Amino acid sequence: MNGAAVLDGKVALVTGGSRGIGAAVALRLAEEGADVVLTYRGSAEQAEAVAAKIGAMGRRAWAVRADSADPQEVTAVVAGVAERFGRIDVLVNNAGVGVLGPIGELTLDEVDRVLEVNVRGPFLFAQAVSAHLADGGRIVTIGSCIAQRVAFPGGTLYATSKAALIGLTKALARELGPRGITANVIHPGPIDTDLNPADGPAADFQRGLTALGAFGTGADVAVAVAYLAGEGGRYVTGAELAVDGGFAA
Ligand code: NDP
Repeated sequence: MNGAAVLDGKVALVTGGSRGIGAAVALRLAEEGADVVLTYRGSAEQAEAVAAKIGAMGRRAWAVRADSADPQEVTAVVAGVAERFGRIDVLVNNAGVGVLGPIGELTLDEVDRVLEVNVRGPFLFAQAVSAHLADGGRIVTIGSCIAQRVAFPGGTLYATSKAALIGLTKALARELGPRGITANVIHPGPIDTDLNPADGPAADFQRGLTALGAFGTGADVAVAVAYLAGEGGRYVTGAELAVDGGFAA
């Protein structure tokens, strides 16, 4: 990196940073100067590869296994970041799972799993990290375009989970604002990842739901996260930012 980067000296915690959007975010925040901690659940090798790329940029990186559905692992990873790095400046609540299907066919296990990972996890991460954030701290949560526009049937569980993050974000903005901490939610549209491949069976249908007629990339979301995590986010809080190719238009 040449010169002072925007996030020099800052420490970012990105949940679900081993693949997809989270990996793109972790790399982008490191490019902006941050040291980055990334969590994962199963993909140790991919998480280590992302951490190695961050290390090659001259930033500190720590890939740590922590299931967002496990409250003790969430608390432990946040304590571990504070201990190893001495501070936490940016939380990116990204880890998430998607289960689609008719409401009558969703099992209780599926309901619990999606709500544990997509809602309780981000809540507990925000709760634990808020004790460490200082003035200038940032919480960026990855929601979904489905929280703004449910454009097809089968989305009850996923939409419920992602819409909850809007409430979490607005409430965090109110509660942490007096401390100079901002909280925002980004709603990605169809983004080409393992979760939603641009060559998958539903890909053309999703393209047709966007104004641009195209999938986005993890990098498209990452640049928005970097904006909110940096100076651009200083006076933006409680906001929903669609990075969705016009899905909600
Ligand atoms: P991927 O499935 O490609 O990647 C998911 C990431 O989250 C992986 O790093 C995975 O870790 C991690 N993860 C999943 N479950 C857990 C868990 N229980 N604990 C810790 N980490 C976990 O998904 P995307 O990158 O596509 O999605 C990222 C976020 O963006 C999600 O919240 C998703 O809902 C949201 N989103 C995605 C859209 C898309 O079109 N792709 C559209 C709108 C929103 P591991 O590799 O170890 O499994």
